[in-house]
Amino acid sequence: MKILTVIGARPQFIKASAVSRAIQQVGGLEEVIVHTGQHFDEKMSQIFFDELSIPVPKYNLDIHGLNHGAMTGKMLAGIEEIILLEKPDYLLVYGDTNSTLAGALAASKLHVKVIHVEAGLRSFNMKMPEEINRILTDRVSHLLFCPTETAMNNLEKEGFDQMKLIYLNSGDVMYDTTLHYSQLVKWDSPVLENFKNESFVLCTLHRAENTDNLERLRNIIEGLNKISQSIKVLVPLHPRTKNIIEKLQVPVHFEIIEPVGYLDMLGLIQSCALVMTDSGGLQKEAFFLKKYCITMRDETEWVELVENGYNFLVGADQDKMVEKFLALSQKEINDGLNLYGEGTAADYIVKQIKATIDEGPGFK
Ligand code: UDP
Repeated sequence: MKILTVIGARPQFIKASAVSRAIQQVGGLEEVIVHTGQHFDEKMSQIFFDELSIPVPKYNLDIHGLNHGAMTGKMLAGIEEIILLEKPDYLLVYGDTNSTLAGALAASKLHVKVIHVEAGLRSFNMKMPEEINRILTDRVSHLLFCPTETAMNNLEKEGFDQMKLIYLNSGDVMYDTTLHYSQLVKWDSPVLENFKNESFVLCTLHRAENTDNLERLRNIIEGLNKISQSIKVLVPLHPRTKNIIEKLQVPVHFEIIEPVGYLDMLGLIQSCALVMTDSGGLQKEAFFLKKYCITMRDETEWVELVENGYNFLVGADQDKMVEKFLALSQKEINDGLNLYGEGTAADYIVKQIKATIDEGPGFK
């Protein structure tokens, strides 16, 4: 049985590392990987393949730097050709990027069944490109793996229990990867050596709702500048945000570094005082590694972190950013609520895929 996996962005490489390893271990499944090229440079792409032993993609579509429509359209055409050539039994996608949607759409139009890992998440903010991508991808998927109970409930509310689909709570593959790779952090790497004796807030910023809204972006930068008066704020910055900030020509008092590899990132999370971010994945990694998180968004898909007091939504409000920083920077999480499974999501997912495939064509 052949699975065509479509990935293209940094968080997908990380998620795929866990599932691809499980696919290799289970046997009987052939995985062919397509890299759409959405993230393409060394620090946003290649480093993850090298560090996380992800199988080399058989295809690289090299599609990036376009508006959403053009990018998704080109990916759709490229993936369609590959599906026709490879004739996979299933197509596997992760998360909520344009690569996810393009893969899901191309496959479903060709009647190839779609497997969606990280299904059911909702921010209920239809202005987010990610929200559109995840809703549409879920709708054309046949086998949906939800990382949380909330995600399962979201699908039920949308009527998925009435459809001939399989949706399961698998737990979160990012918990698997955090557990696995946090053991492998190289503490003498140049990045970790550089910051090892310092107290710092770790921050990432790349969500379009912040970077493409200059008022929000200015406010967030100002909030980070204010926090930088008390502690170093270290920002491994997404190239897109870097370009925008450079054009804005606003004073920046925090430390911007190049994006780092996953092992360094897990080391930085463990070493920092606090995480501030608008990333989806980092909100959870902070929790997994017992750090509080301040999220510069108005809503989150990971509502259980907010409900349990591990994560605080501050939007783009600089006063709230500072207030929460002051309240949280000396604290670490010291309870062990289990919100995202057992760290065995990838094995579960692959076993379920295999069981479903073994049922033969036309399952359920
Ligand atoms: N990440 C990384 N290096 C960095 C910044 C982030 O390895 O310089 C990792 C981070 O730890 C998380 C993933 O990238 O696992 C999150 O990706 P991103 O924030 O780009 O996407 P999102 O999770 O918001 O979809």
